[in-house]
Amino acid sequence: MNTADVRNMFLFVAQKIIEKKEFLTEVDSAIGDGDHGIGMSNGFLAVKVKLQSLDTDISVSEIVAAVGKAMLTNMGGASGALFGTLFSSAARTIYDSVACNEKDFANMMRAGLERVKNLGQAECGDKTMIDALEPAVIALEEHAGNGFKEMLEAARVAAWKGVEATKNMQAKFGRAKTLMERAIGFQDAGATSVALIFDAMVEFVANFNFEISCINPEII
Ligand code: ADP
Ligand code: MG
Repeated sequence: MNTADVRNMFLFVAQKIIEKKEFLTEVDSAIGDGDHGIGMSNGFLAVKVKLQSLDTDISVSEIVAAVGKAMLTNMGGASGALFGTLFSSAARTIYDSVACNEKDFANMMRAGLERVKNLGQAECGDKTMIDALEPAVIALEEHAGNGFKEMLEAARVAAWKGVEATKNMQAKFGRAKTLMERAIGFQDAGATSVALIFDAMVEFVANFNFEISCINPEII
């Protein structure tokens, strides 16, 4: 993927998450305070505006950094810091390159995951976004070299499996923590967002010819 492809992929992801605002709000309402959909949607609206204002003669890193910064500065809640950090840290691994291969992408997401774990101190099993993100990153690493489509599909499947697993967990972080065993039966909102992001990435690479998406960005 070149810079334009990465930009277009994040524009597509942004649109898809904005469309899921109500659903994410519902998920967070069950065991949280119901603001996750609003936060994610505001964050990705800012991402959309920022990416639309950027030229594509910049590096992939600058695009991913812009995604992280827009989220960090425009989203509230725990997830603003966490999702913003995910992409801001991811951007730092790819330097000045104007292209990103599967391995670069897996490396980016690994760096983002590690930074988020460091910041939030959550591990798999704690009923957070990590339960979807960590298995997704492992899948990316295992499938890098098989084409973006297969790699992202593997990550998407792993992420949703992680979301399902959060239903049986008690929360160790966030607002659901105080609910103790009453949180059981409900999926985690942040993990759901992670899986939706991978859903959108899969849809983007499955439906858009990279060459076409570069020349004709208005199709997204
Ligand atoms: P808030 O909890 O401030 O209302 P959001 O509703 O936007 O923020 O986001 C909640 C999500 O943030 C949770 O569903 C969970 O996935 C994630 N989260 C909360 N605390 C942590 C943490 N310490 N580490 C990783 N993810 C976390
Ligand atoms: Mg919330």
